[in-house]
Amino acid sequence: MSDDIDKLLRKKEEPRRKDKDLFETVEEVFDTATVMTIIELIRKKIIKKLNGVVSTGKEARVYLGIGYNGEYLAVKIYLTSTAEFKKGIYKYIMGDPRFRGVKIKDTRTLVYVWTRKEYRNLKRLYEAGVKVPRPVAFLNNVLVMEFLGENGNRYPLLIEAYKELEVEELKHVYHLILDEVVKIYCKARLVHGDLSEYNIVVTPGLDIAIIDVSQAVDLSHPNSEEFLIRDIENINRFFREETGISTYSLEEILEAVKEC
Ligand code: ATP
Ligand code: MN
Repeated sequence: MSDDIDKLLRKKEEPRRKDKDLFETVEEVFDTATVMTIIELIRKKIIKKLNGVVSTGKEARVYLGIGYNGEYLAVKIYLTSTAEFKKGIYKYIMGDPRFRGVKIKDTRTLVYVWTRKEYRNLKRLYEAGVKVPRPVAFLNNVLVMEFLGENGNRYPLLIEAYKELEVEELKHVYHLILDEVVKIYCKARLVHGDLSEYNIVVTPGLDIAIIDVSQAVDLSHPNSEEFLIRDIENINRFFREETGISTYSLEEILEAVKEC
């Protein structure tokens, strides 16, 4: 048994002692099954430990993880207790041929399917050459991927970074995003479905990465066209209203996307 698990199990018997180890990080938020999943990922040597929270959302939390080679990892943990979740994500799973025949008996099962869906989307995008974090592993409601950041500090989202950018830099970023929209469609044969300034990371050298791909759907999904249009309109609206740079029309972009 590794030292970390040993320490973790020992902590369980004395949960009042305050320090910043793994159990302390997870005990208030996560149920036993989630804690056991994290322990299993440690046992499998996928993560060595969790080192503090990167983001706390309604449906998921992202932690900074440390791998066995000392590398940083992003560990996205879906909450299995959110009722809203079920309604919100159901339509993205139904209609996706990859999930035909999957029986969903309860919220936990749905969240596990959702986590697997994000991992599979991430893998498909990564292998197609789309700029996304490299997928590492998933188990139950936990997804492990490359950490986009430096020294444990995440790179900024577009919404956080754009005010510092010059007009020419904004135009550059806009074009980079459109390139990825085309790649997601033509190479990965997916539509992101939640593309916005909140799910685009600005990386060094004025490059970008796309995150949060759980809701991405196969092109054969009945709503893929509607999601594609919404993605493009989100990006255009952001650049038009917030940066004032001139954008292509929806039609122009759709034409470019569908050229493949
Ligand atoms: P929310 O419930 O807040 O909407 P979410 O479902 O949108 O969460 P993500 O967008 O995937 O989840 O991640 C939340 C935040 O965690 C991101 O805005 C980003 O700041 C950070 N993050 C996610 N993935 C990574 C990563 N691979 N590397 C670094 N930071 C990340
Ligand atoms: Mn997000």
